[in-house]
Amino acid sequence: MTAWRRDFHAHLEAGFEEHRTSALVAERLAAWGIEVHRGIGGTGVVGVLRSGRGNLAVGLRADTDALEMPEANDFPYRSTIPGKMHGCGHDGHTTMLLGAARYLAETKNFDGIVHFIFQPAEEGQGGAQAMVADGLFERFPCDSVYGLHNQPGMAVGHYGIRAGAMMAGCGFFDLDIHGRGGHGARPESTVNPVVCGAAVVSAFQSIVARNVAPNDTAVVSVTGFTAGTAYNVIPERVSLRGTVRAFRTGTMQLVEERMRALATSIASGFGATAELAFREVTVPVVNGAAQTALIADAAAAMVGEAHVDRQRIPAMGSEDFSYMLAERPGAYILVGNGTGEAGGCEVHNPRYDLNDAAIPYGAGILAAVVEKELPRG
Ligand SMILES: [Zn+2]
Ligand SMILES: [Zn+2]
Repeated sequence: MTAWRRDFHAHLEAGFEEHRTSALVAERLAAWGIEVHRGIGGTGVVGVLRSGRGNLAVGLRADTDALEMPEANDFPYRSTIPGKMHGCGHDGHTTMLLGAARYLAETKNFDGIVHFIFQPAEEGQGGAQAMVADGLFERFPCDSVYGLHNQPGMAVGHYGIRAGAMMAGCGFFDLDIHGRGGHGARPESTVNPVVCGAAVVSAFQSIVARNVAPNDTAVVSVTGFTAGTAYNVIPERVSLRGTVRAFRTGTMQLVEERMRALATSIASGFGATAELAFREVTVPVVNGAAQTALIADAAAAMVGEAHVDRQRIPAMGSEDFSYMLAERPGAYILVGNGTGEAGGCEVHNPRYDLNDAAIPYGAGILAAVVEKELPRG
């Protein structure tokens, strides 16, 4: 598995470009006697493995894409593609699911159907939605679906999970404020959208503090403010952008409503106009109670209860596996990637690398879930 993983790391592909990766996945699945379906949601691959006469089906999902960022590592299997790297460990996730597939194909110690879901474009490009929209669960019905992610800072051989909301939903927004441009020395003949934009940014800080319930939580981050090109010109318009995170769809909607109300009314007070464009990037990752208990029990059977955190603190980051969990009950578990030198570097850092020592724990938990969900009679 280490050799597969390092090969994926060197020969990475970004979202919806995973042609080599999906070809290798398909080739290996077929060699192990697994039925292969390609081109689902673009470069997605689904493998189907049956054992016994049962009709219950489990979906196991891995993401396969790399990031558009340069790699700063200098080990022999570093990225061969300038400006791109496997900076989130999806090379490892792909490998873990392949490992589970090979094990299950050889041992067949289950009764039912396994769907191995190799998903493209997890990094904000909508790969999970693409597969779901392409009929993933109609063509490959699943009674439950499971996914995982490596977790730097958590020791190898440890797992983290919680029932309910585990990761936040994500929204992106663009806000255009239109004033009236003119000479920087003649403010009385202009409507300065910079002043209006500054007031809007300040007002947005009140949404989480004053509108979101204190026992709920959300993030509103303005991350871009673009205006003007000259010292002595008051610009016509200002563009703001940013991101919102929340664990509940209703909270996300509340934040969007408050942003729109504040922006339009503040702009109106300044004699400007504001237009908010808000788009959903991911819905929250919500783990089913039964599936969370099942995968946590499977993990505890492998590594001991002390190494399974069943009350993992929810993360404000997001993950598009949420769209599969919105369709089918399931769970998403974190797999320890290690601490310190070995595996402690955060994902999306140019020096990140998936810890090969974590691979058996990822492959192992995926295989164990199948044997637990689909026990032989
Ligand atoms: Zn990532
Ligand atoms: Zn990731």
